[in-house]
Amino acid sequence: MESRLPISEYPKAWKEYNRRWFAAWISFIALIPYAIFDVIAMKWMLKHVSWIKDLAGPKALFWILIIPGAVVFMILLHKFLAWHCPRCGFDFFSTKSRFLGRPNSCFTCGLRRNAVSADEIE
Ligand SMILES: [Zn+2]
Repeated sequence: MESRLPISEYPKAWKEYNRRWFAAWISFIALIPYAIFDVIAMKWMLKHVSWIKDLAGPKALFWILIIPGAVVFMILLHKFLAWHCPRCGFDFFSTKSRFLGRPNSCFTCGLRRNAVSADEIE
């Protein structure tokens, strides 16, 4: 199979793949402290900002405040899942693995994850 990238470029491609996976995981884990901060910020705003009570109740305010963190996670997850195989150039992920798991090989061509030498690539 003809490769989309020269084999010498694979380490750089895998580094980008692993960086995207790490960023997506960090943003997912960060949603927990972000939600705690969200609750603290919501309570503070309801106590100290008089006009906010007219705008939204506690539940609505919680969801409004959590949106930026959720959007960051969704963007990073999309960037991770949109990564293309360095050999075939198609999606590395199957339609079934659409979260933060990492398949061991390309869904399309079978290239093993993190393969960087000729004997690993065949
Ligand atoms: Zn592939």
